[in-house]
Amino acid sequence: MIVILKPHPSDDEVRNIEERVRDLGYEPHTIRGEVRTVVAAVGDETTHQSLETLLSIPVVDRVMPVQQKYKLISRETHPDDFVVNVGGIPVGGEVFQVIAGPCAVESQQQVLEVAEHVKGQGACLMRGGAFKPRTSPYDFQGLGEPALEMMARARDAFGLPVVTEVVRESDVELVARYADMLQIGARNALNYSLLEAVADTGKPVLLKRGMASTVNEWLLAAEYIVKRGNRNVVLCERGIRTFETATRNMLDIGAVAIAKKETCLPVVVDPSHAAGRVDLVEPLAKAAIAAGADGLLVEVHPCPEKATSDQAQQLDFDGFTSFMEHIKPYIDLAGKKFGPINR
Ligand code: PEP
Ligand code: MN
Repeated sequence: MIVILKPHPSDDEVRNIEERVRDLGYEPHTIRGEVRTVVAAVGDETTHQSLETLLSIPVVDRVMPVQQKYKLISRETHPDDFVVNVGGIPVGGEVFQVIAGPCAVESQQQVLEVAEHVKGQGACLMRGGAFKPRTSPYDFQGLGEPALEMMARARDAFGLPVVTEVVRESDVELVARYADMLQIGARNALNYSLLEAVADTGKPVLLKRGMASTVNEWLLAAEYIVKRGNRNVVLCERGIRTFETATRNMLDIGAVAIAKKETCLPVVVDPSHAAGRVDLVEPLAKAAIAAGADGLLVEVHPCPEKATSDQAQQLDFDGFTSFMEHIKPYIDLAGKKFGPINR
């Protein structure tokens, strides 16, 4: 941290700041200029109190961080890509993964059919909602534990690890018993006690960006999980809420590039919830690959018009087959290896 003082501080004022910096556990290094004086505070900001408390002293003009606040996931400290192992499937690094499955689990037959189809097309992980965070309390809320059992059976039948959302703290233990990766949805993206609870399971976490979260808030949410000792975090951009209504959420491709640059964590993109309509899923997925994404989360349903949720955005089987065919050249161009190659 750098503490910048107001013009022409007295010797006493500078000494006082140096003392306060020392009290907070840092070593002060003062540079006195003609007008301005700055005090560089050297020390580990993860283990010491924030120097921002010094802002209450009248002579202090600004306190500026020199390191990112998300230290544990920052490329500054971890230059190499971190690869997250999800039930034996690597996510991140050189490999590109597609996570596919229905918005919500509706029946055993539905998940078995979807698992078979998406695996046949090269997806290595399966998604499906057992607990659905719906905008309206009158909409389908998910089948709960029976849905988790159905996905576990599909995993056993087809060898596809399961990614599923946990919406409340009291369900974390239950969901972790069945899932290979716990999803934190956009609506819970800044629910810090839930983040800590999923972190403590030790399971990989798919962390969606909140619909009104800044990139900084998203990355700091990931830092909450890693700070608990669980480094198995995959970031997921799924679009944010803006004034635009032509898409369901505005896919923030810039955020994907920034997250890849600033952090060592894998970043996947969910074009389904960003698009909100089936015809835009493929172009958004191609843009995500070009921006450096490590994978995609795509909704697939055997019969989207009969789905209990998100009918307009789920690909049917033919749609998913052609989607996978069309994105493969983009994955090659991005210099990534498509998932199944590594199995
Ligand atoms: C989902 O993936 O099922 C979901 C509800 O997405 P989001 O949290 O991004 O809205
Ligand atoms: Mn959905």
